[in-house]
Amino acid sequence: MRPVLLAAFALLAACGVTASNEQAKEGTERMVAPVLTGEDARDPHSFARPEVARVTHVALDLDADFEARRMAGTATLDLQAADGARRIILDSRGLEIEAVTDADGRPLEWALGPADEAKGQPLTVDIGPSPGSEQAVRQIRIRYRSAPGAAALQWLTPAQTAGGEHPYLFSQGQPTLNRTWIPTQDSPGIRQTWEARITAPEPLKVVMSGERLTPEGEPAGQGRRAFRFRMDHPVAPYLIAIAAGDLAFRELGPRTGVWTEPSMLDEAARELADTERMMEASERLYGPYRWGRYDLIVLPPAFPYGGMENPTLTFLTPTFIAGDKSLVGLVAHELAHSWSGNLVTNAIWPDSWLNEGFTSYFENRIMEAIYGPERAAQEAALSWDSMEAAFEELGRDAPGTRLRGDDGPDEGSSGIVYDKGAIFLRTVEHIVGRERFDAYLRSYFDRHAFQPMTSARFLADLRANLVRGDADLEQRLMLDQWVYQPGLPENAARPDPAAFAEVDEAARAFAASGAARSVPYGGWNTAERLRFLNALPRELPRARLAELDATFDLTRSANAETLFAWLQLALANRYQPAVPVAERFLLSMGRRKFVAPLFETLWDEGEWGRPIARRLYARARPTYHSVTTGTVDETLGHQADSS
Ligand SMILES: [Zn+2]
Repeated sequence: MRPVLLAAFALLAACGVTASNEQAKEGTERMVAPVLTGEDARDPHSFARPEVARVTHVALDLDADFEARRMAGTATLDLQAADGARRIILDSRGLEIEAVTDADGRPLEWALGPADEAKGQPLTVDIGPSPGSEQAVRQIRIRYRSAPGAAALQWLTPAQTAGGEHPYLFSQGQPTLNRTWIPTQDSPGIRQTWEARITAPEPLKVVMSGERLTPEGEPAGQGRRAFRFRMDHPVAPYLIAIAAGDLAFRELGPRTGVWTEPSMLDEAARELADTERMMEASERLYGPYRWGRYDLIVLPPAFPYGGMENPTLTFLTPTFIAGDKSLVGLVAHELAHSWSGNLVTNAIWPDSWLNEGFTSYFENRIMEAIYGPERAAQEAALSWDSMEAAFEELGRDAPGTRLRGDDGPDEGSSGIVYDKGAIFLRTVEHIVGRERFDAYLRSYFDRHAFQPMTSARFLADLRANLVRGDADLEQRLMLDQWVYQPGLPENAARPDPAAFAEVDEAARAFAASGAARSVPYGGWNTAERLRFLNALPRELPRARLAELDATFDLTRSANAETLFAWLQLALANRYQPAVPVAERFLLSMGRRKFVAPLFETLWDEGEWGRPIARRLYARARPTYHSVTTGTVDETLGHQADSS
């Protein structure tokens, strides 16, 4: 596939948006980001037609109703439209729309179109000049409620929290879930500034992914408090996020801090103690952090992801807490998204490697700066393994191994999107040299700050600013093959074979009937332990599994990653003593990365594993977020409507 480069650069001229990326709006300094109009930036997962009319700003005024499990109130949208535009199309999934008016409260014609299972329904609003008026409508107000089962929102009972006393709410917008609670154009290429006023019952606190204007909240009547927020940088709408619960805060550094439930605060703050240093390292690499504060919130264990890079407020699973900072690569990853993903954002989801591959590369550079080159080399080697596992699973030349995908918004394999993406950038670094590549990346973030990006646009930028017509370099980089072709180009920068030399030798010795007690497992770090567990033969007799478990105390591992690696091995061998541990683990958290493969492993074990999987899932499913149940339902053939 040869991309059409010129088209990718066309900005949305119809809206009068300038390439300078900044436009003063009446009385405000709100930035309006350009929308890409090239064919390579057409979003298959949104109904919006931004070239006709687009949203530039969202103002939410919502009540969080924990009894009805709904967000209810208004969304006021600022619009830009081409001359003569008669209507704007928004994304909506399950929203109950009550009324749509203009800024003065005059009713506007609106309609919800036919439902698409993945995309939801288009919400079309008439914005042509009203009778007797010359002015087209440039602000609309939608009164609505989210549905009780809105896929972005998870409403937790007090029993699902650490404190056990108060309910909890959190959202997960990526990739296309925010349309279940916010009626806007839910496409990552249509950046929007936003503000919000959210009320919640006392004593709950509300936090969002923007500047907090009322840290303690304001009285809102009927035992409720209101919290106000603002985001003046245009962001992809999937980055609007909310959490509400019994929350406490602690400073970590001048710009950094952590939110979590009071009983979790000490251990969360200890694990996150290096956050400010990570920020300083990131800024030294790729330029200033442009979002003001960088806070984190450690959520209840139902959170379906490791982390989510919501601007100014990274959302984290508590399963990254191991007590020894061995899993804080996750924090480096989410922080790196403040540049790759939040500052420069994939315009459409088939280009998500631009978010995740860049971020995985950047994460490794932060880890190297803070914890040294050995740990970074080990984590890079694990990432290589994860890419290799994806090639195994998909087939080396399968279309799904291309970086630029064409699948659904959440379909790309992480071994490709994250790991092959990072290895591509590491390869470029090795070929051009670190200093030159770092200078290029820093300038890339400057040039495209607060703008959408496509694969074609990135390659054009790389050619213009790094390759600069050097035909020999162009040939050595194999850029188009990396981005558009399946498989692994021959120039790939391979991991350092010394990174795990001792570990691999120990795994070989154990596989050849060596004793577990001669493996120096206790002295290894987490990366080494994971490498060892994953390098063991996938079929092991019961006695060998028992020996491993007894010698390394695997069943009682406090580290979620090593526990997961152990359970994968044990369950695949129908090792009965692992079942109660798996049960506890699967009922104690809802992180998809752990939950989905464990259910898959059980399912693959036929008449032994399937009854266990069914029994566990019946109990666990009500505690999981839709992101996690969506994947496990497929494995178990669960009928979603029978839940
Ligand atoms: Zn990421």
